[in-house]
Amino acid sequence: MDTVEHWVSGAGFIGESERTAPVYNPAEGVVAREVRLASAADVAAAVAAARAAFPAWADTSLAKRQQIMFAFRELLSARRQEVAEILTAEHGKVLSDALGEVARGLEIVELATSVPQLLKGEYSQNVSNGVDVYSVREPLGVVGVITPFNFPAMVPLWFFPLAIAAGNTVVLKPSEKDPSASVWMARLMQEAGLPDGVLNVVHGDKVAVDALLDHPDVASISFVGSTPIARYVYETGTSRGKRVQALGGAKNHMLVLPDADLDLVADSAVNAGFGSAGERCMAISVVVAVEPVADELVAKISERMSRLTVGDGRRGCDMGPLITREHRDKVAGYLDIAAEDGAELVVDGRGIRVDGSSDGFWLGPTLVDRVPTSSRVYSDEIFGPVLSVVRVHSFEEGVALINSSPYGNGTAIFTNDGGAARTFQREVQVGMIGINVPIPVPVGYYSFGGWKASLFGDTKAYGTEGITFFTRAKAVTSRWLDPAHGGINLGFPQN
Ligand code: NAD
Repeated sequence: MDTVEHWVSGAGFIGESERTAPVYNPAEGVVAREVRLASAADVAAAVAAARAAFPAWADTSLAKRQQIMFAFRELLSARRQEVAEILTAEHGKVLSDALGEVARGLEIVELATSVPQLLKGEYSQNVSNGVDVYSVREPLGVVGVITPFNFPAMVPLWFFPLAIAAGNTVVLKPSEKDPSASVWMARLMQEAGLPDGVLNVVHGDKVAVDALLDHPDVASISFVGSTPIARYVYETGTSRGKRVQALGGAKNHMLVLPDADLDLVADSAVNAGFGSAGERCMAISVVVAVEPVADELVAKISERMSRLTVGDGRRGCDMGPLITREHRDKVAGYLDIAAEDGAELVVDGRGIRVDGSSDGFWLGPTLVDRVPTSSRVYSDEIFGPVLSVVRVHSFEEGVALINSSPYGNGTAIFTNDGGAARTFQREVQVGMIGINVPIPVPVGYYSFGGWKASLFGDTKAYGTEGITFFTRAKAVTSRWLDPAHGGINLGFPQN
């Protein structure tokens, strides 16, 4: 059986740890390969490689860094089908969705090609007689990137291209559930001309994450995953003096006003609720319907759900399996909770007929109406193909409900009333807002990140905030002395 190895100093790396974890093909329910799980010493070897590569890389001209990013962009664009097939095989998402993930990741590579522009500093001439002040941004050093299973290509791409373009060297620890895409991308970076040691990949679990958090040579951590781990990573990393951005989980609401186009709403709810089997941090998981539209909307959504095909993502269906059997069972368990809590199971995805192996980790699209907000079906991040409907009686009640959530990743409003949309945008306590757009993932030159328990830290991913995170500023005050200056004066200099 294949083993997915670490990637250190531009080559496969076995390391000392003998621990491994299974990597499944979730559509077939079988172990397809194994992945190595790094020990602290294995992580230290990757950090040492990144540290050794840092001085020369930080000193590499912006023009050269930019050329490498352009070359990587061209290679990734040309070979997107290849990596999409890896994503489908290990994650289970359908091939068209995997290609979409690569396309969204490419946006950040394209942003990274503009690094000379992004790193421009400021200059103020003659702030005092003969004195000039300017600022420069410098890389941090070795940066750690820890990513979740649900976007095995796109989330690493949120970070490593910008980090590298800004002059840092990287140790990437992808999810052990679908690790192959990261190594594939690291090889492609090498092909694009990246010097060895600038991008390293270590696989692993908590042991590897803790080793990165503990290592004194790791300057920063960019984390994406569930809220409890994000909080842990943020608290541990910052207590070790590191710069940390830790993006957490979500429970994204879609507010539907009575004047909305209900066909557009139903299409959007189905796409955003069940795309990638609901395993997206920006998935819509709660439709908040302002009465009297709920009955009609539920009918339209369930009619569309009856047309969805579920199966092996390689075969052109709408939705694939969940990531593991354990996760599938956990998600399905919420349907029992829904029944116990008095919600109405309108479409039950258990027992779905699939186009694929019966051993796959299947759960069909599920719609639960009249979900009590006291139920865990409403409050927990389920992270599967389960769409809840909550009925409210006013715009204000809907906004208050959204604002009472501990999460604040994404939200959407569907309406034809511009004034209501504007009020929503101003009042809602959420980091990314869609107005008649169900999954408002910002384009590459804006930044991605939620509020509250959806992001710990104060810098979002990519965009200009990404560059801010991966660099630190120096402000320089300079004077070229002429002989007239001098003398002793212990006060603050004045004009
Ligand atoms: P996860 O938290 O289980 O794992 C994320 C990373 O942390 C992985 O690399 C994993 O190996 C590591 N990890 C797991 N347990 C750990 C532990 N006890 N100690 C230290 N490290 C540990 O998340 P996941 O299941 O891979 O991904 C799904 C979650 O990610 C969802 O909650 C989803 O909302 C979230 N997510 C958030 C965003 C965002 O931008 N906010 C984007 C994608 C996914």
